Amino acid sequence: MSKLIIKYSAFALIAIFGNIIVQFMVFNNYTGPYQLLVAMACGTVASLFIKYFLDKKFIFYFNNKRNNIYNFALYSFNGVFTTLIFWGIETAFYIFLPFGAAKYIGAFIGLCICYVIKYHLDKRFVFVEFPYDKLPAFEDIGDILDMTVILDIDGTIVADNCDEIAAETMVAVETLKKHNTVYLCTNSFNRIRNAKVEKLLGLKIADMKHKKPSKKILETMFVENPSRLVVIGDKFLTDGLFAKRIGAQFLMVKRKLSFNEPLLVKVINFIDGMAYHFAYLSKK
Ligand SMILES: [Mg+2]
Repeated sequence: MSKLIIKYSAFALIAIFGNIIVQFMVFNNYTGPYQLLVAMACGTVASLFIKYFLDKKFIFYFNNKRNNIYNFALYSFNGVFTTLIFWGIETAFYIFLPFGAAKYIGAFIGLCICYVIKYHLDKRFVFVEFPYDKLPAFEDIGDILDMTVILDIDGTIVADNCDEIAAETMVAVETLKKHNTVYLCTNSFNRIRNAKVEKLLGLKIADMKHKKPSKKILETMFVENPSRLVVIGDKFLTDGLFAKRIGAQFLMVKRKLSFNEPLLVKVINFIDGMAYHFAYLSKK
């Protein structure tokens, strides 16, 4: 334990040192607008990278090379969250204790508390096996029988906004249709593409007017047994929330990607991945 504290503190000092060196370099080489802000931002990002690398390698011994962007974003998010706590404690000491050095004592106590919290948050949410990697592909979800299935299109059947359906996906949909009542459901506004997918799969999109996670979509379907509803989709924040709101089971599948997704779609997917990651690990 004491070894861990020494290592953790040493890495914090190295990160602070890196922060100052980068700030010094930026100050001496950049004379444009917002010089101080730019220097501070570069220093902060540099120290975050340094600390992330050191924590990953030598505190948590985390060797997974995948999902580095997710891990780094979650790590930074934890950093912002704990910094806010740190500021709160220092400010409280400054306001409520009637002596000059109170804010420094507050800063020291706040920093210690925040490092402990950050260590535990990183251990629980950042340097862990990424749950998204364990999701099955739509084609591998296995048998579903006698259910009303609400099937997402983009990311589940095809990559975002695409209209070519792979042969194995067609087989999986046909199997699903054989044993269940299946409705398509999409948040896409691309009517031509949507119509093409409907025709290819021989299925109807349940509701063109409302979008997930609206409960109103359910009103357009005939559901014989509400306790046997399942939503299959790739998005936690739309498909998952929709399933929760209508009392359905949610089967999340690994997202199909074309890797030509527009930036907005990439950002939405990224946020969705983070939300799923947090929600999944909070439950465990
Ligand atoms: Mg989708």
